Amino acid sequence: MRIDIHTHSAVSDGTQTPADVMASAKDANLDIVALCDHDSMAGWDEARSAAQLHGIQFVPGMEVSTRAHGTSVHLLSYWHDRSAPDVDAMIAKTRDARIHRAQAIVELLAKDFPVTWADVVAQSGGAVTVGRPHIADALVAAEVVADRSAAFTEILRPGSAYYVPHYAPEVVSAVKTMRAAGGVPVLAHPYAGRAGSELPTRVIERAVKAGLVGIEVDHRDHTDEQRGRLRALADQLGLVVTGSSDYHGTGKPNQLGENLTTEEAFAQLEAAR
Ligand code: AMP
Ligand code: FE
Ligand code: FE
Ligand code: ZN
Repeated sequence: MRIDIHTHSAVSDGTQTPADVMASAKDANLDIVALCDHDSMAGWDEARSAAQLHGIQFVPGMEVSTRAHGTSVHLLSYWHDRSAPDVDAMIAKTRDARIHRAQAIVELLAKDFPVTWADVVAQSGGAVTVGRPHIADALVAAEVVADRSAAFTEILRPGSAYYVPHYAPEVVSAVKTMRAAGGVPVLAHPYAGRAGSELPTRVIERAVKAGLVGIEVDHRDHTDEQRGRLRALADQLGLVVTGSSDYHGTGKPNQLGENLTTEEAFAQLEAAR
């Protein structure tokens, strides 16, 4: 069984429709796939229908934007109730903050580069959740940079004069909210922070106390050495170890199935529902 439980569609910052993500998943010989758009579940229905068509088991997921000590932390959640009011309120607030933040970044950029908010809106297409990747696309369209990666390393990275953060709930509170909605929370790429920064163990321990079930270990942005230390930590804290592609279509080099979750780990996530 080939299990990839972290992918994105154009509902957030991926480049394919949810149905096309599932078609690509079929081409990549995946058996179980989760769609985890940032702060939105708007792709679930389309992805589920397409997955069914291709004989893929669909897992409804989401990557929740959260924070810990002022730094950005990504939290995956699976199978939560899509109509839980607390979840809806939490992600609606974040999505709204993301729009104001993106506008603030564009205001800074416009002083030095030929980009406008209208360009970013045009690039974001039908995205429900706006992010820096859409600003990156506007910079690419304006021929300021060659691709998204260059936009991030040269202009949009935290610490750059053009970087503006956005509001997001504390990770512990987000874990509780997703758990209360019947979700299975899994910490996304905890050691993939900016400039090699790693999420402190004390934060992970607090998340475990709040109901964290798993931790994404096998991810392109983790070195082998980091994966080793994360496996040991997962063992110590009783966390399920996952591996995923974090596929974003052509928006990132990540390929479907490049990292996988074992059947045993997936069964443990299901058992935690
Ligand atoms: P934001 O959520 O607006 O802060 O933007 C973060 C998103 O940008 C992440 O979810 C990634 O998908 C994307 N991202 C981060 N670094 C890169 C990169 N080097 N190239 C392409 N996309 C990136
Ligand atoms: Fe993303
Ligand atoms: Fe992420
Ligand atoms: Zn992701």
